[in-house]
Parts: sequence; structure tokens; C-alpha cells
Amino acid sequence: MPAKLLKGAEVAKEIRAELKTEVQQLHEKHGAVPGLVTILVGENPASQSYVRAKQTTAHELGFYSVQDSQPADLAEEALLKLIDKYNKDPKIDGILVQLPLPKHINENRVLLAIDPGKDVDAFHPVNVGKLMIGEPDYLPCTPAGIQELLVRSGTQVSGAEVVVVGRSNIVGKPIAMMLMQKAPGANATVTVTHTRTKDVKAHCLSADILVVAAGVAEYVKGDWVKPGAVVIDVGVNEVGKTADGKRLLKGDVEFEGASQRASAITPVPGGVGPMTITMLMKNTVRACRVHNNLK
Ligand code: NAP
Repeated sequence: MPAKLLKGAEVAKEIRAELKTEVQQLHEKHGAVPGLVTILVGENPASQSYVRAKQTTAHELGFYSVQDSQPADLAEEALLKLIDKYNKDPKIDGILVQLPLPKHINENRVLLAIDPGKDVDAFHPVNVGKLMIGEPDYLPCTPAGIQELLVRSGTQVSGAEVVVVGRSNIVGKPIAMMLMQKAPGANATVTVTHTRTKDVKAHCLSADILVVAAGVAEYVKGDWVKPGAVVIDVGVNEVGKTADGKRLLKGDVEFEGASQRASAITPVPGGVGPMTITMLMKNTVRACRVHNNLK
């Protein structure tokens, strides 16, 4: 039987409706408005489109939102000063610096400059450390979106064998860390695979929940999926153009084959992607509550 589709786009819509109500209540009861700044350095078209989507969602939810676009040759010191300005701005609860940054800017130095309390992407080492010890203030957005999709679809995570393909700092490592925690929506047994793993297929075949974030179009084949597994395809790979000139996207999993064996699978697009932006909004609302001393 073909797998159930885990439609992140629909779940994200549901969460955004909840957030919109929360934002209205924050304003009416406490006069608080979540504030988000997105900082974009340069003119990378993919980054421009991600930032646009974040700004649009922030507007829709009733945030105070600022889009700060800077030229590609912005000096690192100037970017650090800009971040410092937003760190001190009481109207701003969340600061997002769109990655990747131009090569002359040290990304780690920039991430370290963001006030951890405004680090709604959760990339600051303080937030990474808090996640590691199971006491996060903010969860990184893509992994948080994956966990939320699993929980809201009723997937049994506790006790499950989870295999993660990929060990990046933004997806592979944090999702592994989150799903292994002694916490609701977690308590899984997690294996992480990467390019030096001897037999990725064998690991994949053992997974009750398979999370793939390799960045290689259709890398995981249908027959690598254990029958009945839940497959989360994080990959977004542009493989050409559609007939009407739009970007043709493929995930990291060969969808046709995998969806014949899995019990549930995320589509690409419309799976994990829409959840990521929604989790950024959730973190910003949380930051607003913290900054206003609200529970
Ligand atoms: P990344 O930084 O390039 O990391 C890819 C990881 O996959 C690395 O750890 C790499 O191993 C591993 N890998 C690559 N090829 C492999 C292979 N043949 N066998 C086993 N492991 C392999 O990528 P990322 O930032 O995590 O992103 C992964 C994908 O998710 C991309 O397509 C990206 O566009 C997408 N993404 C989507 C969202 C969303 O919101 N939907 C968010 C973030 C990323 P090594 O460490 O050994 O090199």
C-alpha cells in the first residue's frame, strides 16, 4: 500500500493559525509584539527567496518585522556592529542572519555575536550546548519541524530505531541529539551515518524512522527503506526546471520506490520545508514571551 503523505505544508498551516492567535493574545493582554529581523548580506537568489518567505510569514502572523539587506562586500566588523544594534533593540526579539555569508566573513564569529536570547535559529554555541544537555531554550528550526511532524502524525518515536543520513550542524547532528533525549517526542535509539559510513544502505534498512539530510538528489533508494518505516526527506535539490519554468525539486530519497515500502513519507516540496519557517516563528514568539517576562 502506498505510504501516507506527511504534508508539512498542512501541519505548518495548523501551527501558524495557533501562533497567530497567540500573537493576538500577547498584544491584547500584554501589549507585546514579537519582533524579528532578518539580515541578508549579498544577493544570492536562493537566500533572497528564503528571507522573503520568512518576512511574509512574519507579517501574516502580526509580527514587527524588519528586513535588513546589506551589500555583498559588507565588512565583517560592520555586520558585527549591526548585530550589536539589534541585540540592544528592545523591539527585536529574534535575529536571523541568513546563511551562507560571503566568503570574507567568518560565519562562526557572526553567530557568536548574536545574543543567545535572540538566537531564534538556535545556532549559537550556548543554544547548541543547552540542546545537548536536554535543556533547550530554542530548538533549531529544521530539526524542530521534523520532530513536530513526527509527533503530530502520531509516529511512535519512543523506543524507535532512528537512522539519520547526514551529520551537518543544522540538520543531522541536532535532529539526532533531539530524538535521543529523555523527553516527550524523543527517547529513540539513534544512529548517524555519513560519507565514511561503511554500509549506509544496511543502516537505512534497520530504521523505523529514517531521516535523510545528505544533499544528494534521490540518494536513498526505495529498496533501502524498511517496509513500514516512516521516512523524513529533508533534501531539497534543484534538478532542472518544470515545463512552466519553475525550479524542479527532488528530495534525497527516491520517492517512487520509497513510498511503496514506507508507511509514511514526506513529499518534496511540501514536507519538511514549510515546517522550518514555522518553527522560526515559534521561536520568535517564545523569545517575545521571555523578553516580556511572560510564561
Ligand atoms: P550538508 O551540510 O551538505 O551535509 C550533508 C551531510 O550528508 C554530510 O554530513 C555528509 O557527510 C552527508 N552525506 C553526503 N553525501 C553522502 C553520502 N553519499 N552518503 C552518506 N552521507 C552523505 O547538508 P545539510 O545542510 O544538512 O542539508 C542537507 C539537505 O537538506 C540539503 O538538500 C539541503 O538543501 C536540505 N535542507 C533542507 C531544509 C529544509 O528546511 N527543508 C533545511 C536545511 C537543509 P560528511 O559529513 O561525511 O561529508
